[in-house]
Amino acid sequence: MKYLLYLNHPHDEKVYKVNKTKEKRARKYFSTVSTIETTIDIRGEKIKAIVDYDIFNKYANFDCFHCQDDCCGDNPMIYEKKTRKFILDNLEEYNNLTKNVDILEEMGLEKKEIKDSIKKDKCMAPEDFIECEVKNCTCSYKKDNATTLCSIHSIALNKNLDFKEIVDLKPLVCSLWPLEILVEDDMSVAYITLPDDFTNGFTAEDYYKIACINYELSTSPIFRRYNPEGFEEKDYKPFYEAYGETLKYGLGEKFYNDIIKKLEIE
Ligand code: SF4
Ligand code: SF4
Repeated sequence: MKYLLYLNHPHDEKVYKVNKTKEKRARKYFSTVSTIETTIDIRGEKIKAIVDYDIFNKYANFDCFHCQDDCCGDNPMIYEKKTRKFILDNLEEYNNLTKNVDILEEMGLEKKEIKDSIKKDKCMAPEDFIECEVKNCTCSYKKDNATTLCSIHSIALNKNLDFKEIVDLKPLVCSLWPLEILVEDDMSVAYITLPDDFTNGFTAEDYYKIACINYELSTSPIFRRYNPEGFEEKDYKPFYEAYGETLKYGLGEKFYNDIIKKLEIE
């Protein structure tokens, strides 16, 4: 089994491979919880999906503008061609936000080498500078010297691109995170849930570390230490509502409609 959203991760199978113990736990989990069968459409590829639908009722609050957590800590995938083109077409704005061009020029690179790197290098910056001079995800930036945001998303918003276009431009894992999608090695079936609590232990992320799907954590001292304002309880909404558009454009209308239909029935 593999973690579907990490299939194009720069550190390849070290990240996307599900180990045998976790695979066993995942199979057991999906054989015991209530699920529905549907189809996901990921960047044009249709895959049968078994969905732990009840998790879509879970409360979530993606208040990224007020969050100080560095969930853009590293590059989540080898960038797609269209994202590279978008950055090159908006290089000045990208540099104003991230300072990456200035930094690489200060390190001795010519503008042409920087552009070539955006076109060809896995993380859109030369390997030697990743996690050193270009720390965190290449595309991340600090808004007003504080909250970490995504330059791809911000540039797209400034250009009035719609949500579908934004989901198409950003790495899919960034739009769909923290949804967990495991897939068979031959890509025949995907299994969808959210990061779990301590009971299952097969997901790539841990539920108890993600305040956007864990209100209790957002009120805890450890979260408040880095996010003094915390999150408002009233801003938490069911996941299917908080992520409605993202689910539609990231996994397809059929997937979204099947989930909603099932949740309305129950
Ligand atoms: S941890 Fe959640 S709320 Fe915070 S920036 Fe990341 S996705 Fe947004
Ligand atoms: S959301 Fe943007 S900045 Fe954050 S990890 Fe994804 S591409 Fe990088």
